[in-house]
Amino acid sequence: MDGVDLAIVGGGVIGALIAREAVAAFPGATVAVLERGLIGQGASSRSAGVHFPRGATERVRSMSEHSQRVWERLAAELGLPIRALDATVVAAGDADALSTTYLRLGDETAPADPARGWSAPPGARAWQLDGCHYADVRAVAGRVLAGLRDQVTVLEGTEVTGLSSDGEHHRLSLGQGRELLARRVVLAPGPWLAHPAWAELVAPLGLRVKKVVAAHLESSPAPDDPLTIFHDEDAFLLPLHERGHYLFSYTCDRWDVAPDDVDLVLEQSDLEDARAVLGRFAPGLVARCTSGRVFCDAYSPRREPVVAELRPGLVFAGAANGSGYRLAPAIAAETVAALDLTPTGPISQPLQRQS
Ligand SMILES: Cc1cc2nc3c(=O)[nH]c(=O)nc-3n(C[C@H](O)[C@H](O)[C@H](O)COP(=O)(O)OP(=O)(O)OC[C@H]3O[C@@H](n4cnc5c(N)ncnc54)[C@H](O)[C@@H]3O)c2cc1C
Repeated sequence: MDGVDLAIVGGGVIGALIAREAVAAFPGATVAVLERGLIGQGASSRSAGVHFPRGATERVRSMSEHSQRVWERLAAELGLPIRALDATVVAAGDADALSTTYLRLGDETAPADPARGWSAPPGARAWQLDGCHYADVRAVAGRVLAGLRDQVTVLEGTEVTGLSSDGEHHRLSLGQGRELLARRVVLAPGPWLAHPAWAELVAPLGLRVKKVVAAHLESSPAPDDPLTIFHDEDAFLLPLHERGHYLFSYTCDRWDVAPDDVDLVLEQSDLEDARAVLGRFAPGLVARCTSGRVFCDAYSPRREPVVAELRPGLVFAGAANGSGYRLAPAIAAETVAALDLTPTGPISQPLQRQS
C-alpha cells in the first residue's frame, strides 16, 4: 500500500495553499493532494476571487492581513493571475464605525459615480479602500500546485471514498480501488461536507452549505474602474476586465443546498433578487443584469473559518463563509500549525506518481 506523511483531500484553493504551507514547514515530508475532479473545479472555479482587507472579528481581520501579505508575495513570485484595483466602500455609517471592520480605509470620496451608472442611497457616504485585488481562483490553485509538483503528488480524478484510522495511521480508500496510508490527513472538501466518508466526523462542527450567486452585467469595464463595496447590503460591484463585464455579488439566503444538486443553477428568482438590490444604487444597470454564476460554499456558526482536529491527526480546514479565496493563506497557516509532520521513517516513502 502507498504511504504518505500528509494526505490533503480536496484540490481547491484551500487544499493547494495547505500543500504549499506544508512542504515549506516540513521540507522532508511526503505530501499528496487527492482531488476527485480537476484542481480548482469546486467552489474555487466559480469564485469572484475578490480580496478586500476586512473582518468582522479580530481573528478574521488578522487572517485577512496575513493572507494579503501572502497573496502579494505569491503573485510576484509565481506570476499568479491576480489584479490589484482601486476600491470604494459605500455605507451609511461613519469612518470610525467602519474602520473597526476595514483595515485600510482611506480618504472620504464622492458617494456617487454617475459616469459608471451608480449612485449611493440618500445619506450614504463613501471611502477609498486600499489593498484590494481579484483573482482567477481556479488558475491560482492550479498555478500554486504546478510550482510544487516535484514535492507534492497530485492525484486528480481520485475520489476519496472511505476514511478510517487505527489510532496511528489513517487509511484512505480511493475511487479506483486503491488504498493510501497517511500519518496525517487534512480534509479540505469545500462544500462537500456531506460525503459519507466524513459526514459523521464533520457533523459536530455544525457547518451548513449556502447557495452563493453572483450576477453578470453586460457592461464593459474601463481599465481603471474600481471595485465598489456596498457595505450595508453585503454586496459589491466588480469590474472583471479580462472577461469584459461586471459582476454583482449580493447575499443569497438559500441554505442547506448540496454541491452536486442539479437544481443549483441560476434561477429567475436569483436574477430578480440581484436586480432588486442593484436597483437601489444603479437603476440604469438593472436591465444589463442578465446572467450569472451559481454555486455554494460551507458556512460556520460563528462565520469564521474552521480549522479543527476531528480525531488525532485528522484536521478539517474550510467553511470560510464565502471568503475562502481571500483567507486561504491564513487558513493554510493555521492548518499546518495544527499538524506534526516531522518525518518518522517508513511511511515517508514517495507515493508512486501517475504517469
Ligand atoms: C459564486 C461565488 C463567488 C465567490 N466569491 C468569492 C470572493 O469574491 N472572494 C472570496 O474570498 N471567496 C469567494 N467565494 C468563496 C470561495 O470561492 C470558496 O470559499 C473557496 O473556493 C473554497 O475553497 P475550498 O478549497 O475550500 O473548496 P473547493 O474549491 O470547493 O475545493 C474542494 C475540492 O474538494 C474536492 N472533493 C470533494 N469531495 C471529494 C472527495 N470525496 N475526494 C476527493 N476530492 C473531493 C472537490 O472536487 C473540490 O475541488 C465565492 C464562492 C462562490 C460560489
